[in-house]
Amino acid sequence: AVPVAIVSGVSRAAKAGVLVKGGRALEMLSRVQVLVIDKTGTLTHGEASLSELKPLDDVPAERFLQLAASLEQASKHVMARALVQEAQARGLALLLPSDVAEIPGEGLRGIVDGHDVVVGGVRYVRRQIPGLGTGLDGSRYPVGSVVVAVAIDGRLAGLLVLADRLRSEAAHVIDGLRRLGVNRIVLATGDRSDVAETVTAGLSLDGVHADLTPDRKIGIVQDEKRHGFVMMIGDGVNDAPALAAADLGVAMGAKGAAASAEAADVVLLVDRLDKIPVAIQAARWSRRIAL
Ligand code: ADP
Ligand code: MG
Repeated sequence: AVPVAIVSGVSRAAKAGVLVKGGRALEMLSRVQVLVIDKTGTLTHGEASLSELKPLDDVPAERFLQLAASLEQASKHVMARALVQEAQARGLALLLPSDVAEIPGEGLRGIVDGHDVVVGGVRYVRRQIPGLGTGLDGSRYPVGSVVVAVAIDGRLAGLLVLADRLRSEAAHVIDGLRRLGVNRIVLATGDRSDVAETVTAGLSLDGVHADLTPDRKIGIVQDEKRHGFVMMIGDGVNDAPALAAADLGVAMGAKGAAASAEAADVVLLVDRLDKIPVAIQAARWSRRIAL
């Protein structure tokens, strides 16, 4: 039989829009001491609007966005969705990509309208096309903005600069978690360090880890276990392994990737971070009545 305290704790959390997958998850939720949090789509909205379109050389801007967004239709990355929406808002016709290969959380490559198109993070695009040239040197990136690089037929075609915003409740939630005894909070992101630093400038964090591959996110989570029970919160496919490695994995479920929701112990069904302290309180309440 499932104890009454667990049932009522889970249903309290559910009323707040938090899916707690069973008694063990509820128990862990009541005991978290360390938080490892993802950036894009978790601490930020992941609804990046396009702030700059920087096609290089002779590539017409609209054509550049059309090819990039057409390929992004095949990706579930938050930035991919943002670019597809942007292209649609500009009335561009999206074409069907073929032969698509993706490294989740890094970028993707495929054929669009007969062209070889590569879209993703700078690191990924560099690796796909060795000898890409100097167009990708760091001085071209606006500090603090998410940058998506695009190569067409083996040449750098340009950069897409996206302005992703910190969630308005982020600072309040971090302070609230500290009051609940979460005494160590660190950021773990696949994005560049200058973006991570800019986004978190007003937050009181104990550490910022950037440029992480999915494997290195796992490493951060495991390392943090020295400091206590670790809760990891993330949204992307690239977060799924780190969510599974944490004592408690929490997925942003409303807009996040299905893979991360599956790997998680707790899923936020509403797209708001302030439900996390609410869920911790519900878990503690149920533990008290169980005693
Ligand atoms: P976080 O770990 O903070 O959620 P991500 O690594 O998932 O961040 O996303 C931010 C970075 O991902 C950006 O720098 C972007 O360049 C890159 N990126 C990965 N996949 C894609 C894609 N399909 N389209 C555009 N950008 C991508
Ligand atoms: Mg993310």
